Amino acid sequence: MLLGRFARLSQTLLRRNLHITPKFNQAMAIDGNNILAESLKKQGVEYVFGIVGIPVIETSLALQAAGLKYVGMRNEQAACYAAQAIGYLTGKPGVCLVVSGPGLLHCIGGMANAQVNCWPLLVIAGSCPEDHEGIGGFQEWLQVESSRMYSKYAARPPSPRLVPLHVEKAVRYACAGRPGVSYLDMPATLLTAEVEEDKVPMDYYAAETVKLAHPNPELVEQAADLLAKAQRPLIIVGKGAAYGRAEDALCKLVEATKVPFLPTPMGKGVVPDESQYCVSTARTQALLKADVILLLGARLNWMLHFGQAPRYAPGAKIIQVDICPEEFHNSVKSEVAVHSDIKPFVEALTLKLRDRKFSLPPTSDWWQGLREKQKKNTQFVEGQASSKSMPLNYYAVFKAVQANIPKDSIIVSEGANTMDIGRGMLLNNKPRHRLDAGTFATMGVGPGFAVAAAMWCRDYAPEKRVICVEGDSAFGFSGMEIETMFRYKLPVIVVIVNNNGIYGGFDRDVMQDLQSSGDLAQCTPPTALSTEVRYEKMMEMFGVSGHLCRTIPEIEAALKDAVNVTDRPSIINILIDPQASRKPQAFNWLTESKL
Ligand code: ADP
Ligand code: MG
Repeated sequence: MLLGRFARLSQTLLRRNLHITPKFNQAMAIDGNNILAESLKKQGVEYVFGIVGIPVIETSLALQAAGLKYVGMRNEQAACYAAQAIGYLTGKPGVCLVVSGPGLLHCIGGMANAQVNCWPLLVIAGSCPEDHEGIGGFQEWLQVESSRMYSKYAARPPSPRLVPLHVEKAVRYACAGRPGVSYLDMPATLLTAEVEEDKVPMDYYAAETVKLAHPNPELVEQAADLLAKAQRPLIIVGKGAAYGRAEDALCKLVEATKVPFLPTPMGKGVVPDESQYCVSTARTQALLKADVILLLGARLNWMLHFGQAPRYAPGAKIIQVDICPEEFHNSVKSEVAVHSDIKPFVEALTLKLRDRKFSLPPTSDWWQGLREKQKKNTQFVEGQASSKSMPLNYYAVFKAVQANIPKDSIIVSEGANTMDIGRGMLLNNKPRHRLDAGTFATMGVGPGFAVAAAMWCRDYAPEKRVICVEGDSAFGFSGMEIETMFRYKLPVIVVIVNNNGIYGGFDRDVMQDLQSSGDLAQCTPPTALSTEVRYEKMMEMFGVSGHLCRTIPEIEAALKDAVNVTDRPSIINILIDPQASRKPQAFNWLTESKL
């Protein structure tokens, strides 16, 4: 049985070298798998992440034969996270290839995450043979219907000849306007169906880059007027600006106008965090007091407190720039709403403000107030970060991490406090160098994102490192992807900030007391995980050692070692105070909507 399967596989391998088989009196035949592979190649798809099984094993081989890079993962969700991260990093959708039924269903959480984050992604799932539908086929499921809610486009190509058309459409939908998800359903019967090659119109469908959307000059004028008259202007840089590759234009705007800016979590690095105009350390104050806000590629959702009081000044005027006009006036009415790519808008605005010789003086009340707040907040953080008391707190850990990683690293991060505190302390000075739980606040994304980022580094920036900073709970969702990293020799540095739980856990004694007080399922705190779990020992599965750290010198030594390892991942497991928390906040983190 197994041998039979291998024989079939090697036949496919043989065939993929020939690529096509002569049939029908010398006419060349090509099957659905190879049509799919060639179509994806034509559309510029470069990476595929997935898990194979019936009926997509031959598909994966055809993809490799066509020159696509295939990365086999350990869980479909993680594969889906990886595919969407590569889409964000490259601007071209990555493909997530999965099996039928449960394979696709495991992927759905990932599809929702990509859709909510506005990242391009193409999911392709095998499905049961069409003649088995309705009679209990193997892993039969309503796959197109299931995907519809989580995608911009979901379809099953009706014949092999129409596969190239649907691939082109799927890629176009994923990238055009606000990026998002496409789904293609490939029944086993479609994948294996053979047709004469010259009947498949491949060349007709040429990949074409989506044109930039340019702003209406009148609206640029209005935006410039509003900003030039503002007393307390603020720029918010969202991940739409990062995706839109607006970094050079935005740096010029900020330098020319000296207007304070605030990046959203993944907007970090579009303008360097270390820029003197970055006011992340006075975030609450900046939002609260600004009178004109230039909102570039960010939605006024929960992450930006819905743009409403009490987090914003009543009457604050918003200049909203987005590629998606449906987004305008959501939650609050914008004073100026500009349908445009961020980059051409920012370029045009910079020229207009230059004409007006607009530049915010550093001596202005606005800057003075922000500087004072920045000073106060930085003092608190520095106090915490220089504490040597044991067990360590978050701030001390992140200070040591920041000081011992290459400054241009891609930082992947997830967890509760780990992600929130790390956002302030781990700096990004390059765009698209931070990948985190994002708009959907999804836990489990880290290792998949890190695999994608490391693949990207290998192909486009071989010297660059990926640091995957995980809470212990977050790591648990997709920890087995460490094997994927090992198999593909990806030198991801996984830093686990381990506090024995979700938000926080308990030390060994307290946990023992708690668990001995009754039935384990009734007295184990739901937020608790086992104490001092040795996650770093996962490296021993591959015959190498990980790092366990309790002190700053141990963290420094571990990072020095890990930075020198270039052909496999490393795990640094840092045991911190299970009750460590973050700086007291002026507002509840999830400010209630007033609606
Ligand atoms: P953040 O998480 O940084 O707040 P969001 O995901 O809320 O960002 O918002 C990103 C916004 O950027 C979306 O509304 C999306 O339509 C928009 N967007 C994406 N690409 C571009 C682009 N090239 N130009 C302008 N807006 C864009
Ligand atoms: Mg934890």
